Amino acid sequence: MGIEVKNITKYYGDQQALNDVSFSVGKGEIVGFLGPNGAGKSTMMKILTGYITPNKGEAFINGNSVKDEIKKVQQEIGYLPEHNPLYLEMYVREYLNFLARIHRVPQKRIAEVIQLTGLTPEANKKIEQLSKGYRQRVGIAAALLHDPKVLILDEPTTGLDPNQLVEIRNLIKKVGEEKTIFLSTHIMQEVEALCERVVIINKGCIVTDKKLADLKGSE
Ligand code: ADP
Ligand code: ADP
Repeated sequence: MGIEVKNITKYYGDQQALNDVSFSVGKGEIVGFLGPNGAGKSTMMKILTGYITPNKGEAFINGNSVKDEIKKVQQEIGYLPEHNPLYLEMYVREYLNFLARIHRVPQKRIAEVIQLTGLTPEANKKIEQLSKGYRQRVGIAAALLHDPKVLILDEPTTGLDPNQLVEIRNLIKKVGEEKTIFLSTHIMQEVEALCERVVIINKGCIVTDKKLADLKGSE
């Protein structure tokens, strides 16, 4: 259960983005996916969410194949893309309402996610009026709307100022008490602040997969 990735290889044309990648994320774990720009993190996350398909290998979310059971996978998974396409003209509540209707989520869930993500003071503002940190909360609220069991967060704190960074990390920790979280970053401190385990990727290959405690012990 959780996330299971088996021998995934992905090419864009001649360019190999992932090379025989395997790892797993246990149910309820918070695992960091650490690597420099271009390592293949976004590609892996888009494969997990079914946006792109691998050339080889397979991924499973809570036992459901991304290839064969995408509807089930979409119910199980919430995704925060790296460049979240928010509708800047919309009001926060209106945006969440719109997504809730598309995904057939009950109205009462909107108030719940607004509260959970600390958006209450901003809920009646336009998204374009919000700071980067609050926009990121809107993205996280959107990912949580259908109450998925697994969250995929692509670089959730990149570009935030130090205060926003601490706030978003605290939110991720809080949400992580109840969910499986797989989050990408290029910063080791992010992993240290949030994660129990780290999977390190470089040039499309997994180079390390360790508990944080073991990683520190081996230094
Ligand atoms: P990361 O998220 O770790 O920065 P990406 O998964 O975005 O890495 O990219 C992995 C590699 O694949 C990089 O070399 C990148 O340039 C390349 N790449 C990503 N998306 C595409 C695409 N749509 N077409 C061609 N190459 C791509
Ligand atoms: P994201 O991480 O959200 O994909 P990027 O800025 O890395 O955002 O990429 C924007 C778009 O360009 C994505 O669709 C990505 O797949 C694509 N892309 C990234 N790298 C390359 C590349 N080297 N060649 C072609 N397309 C790419």
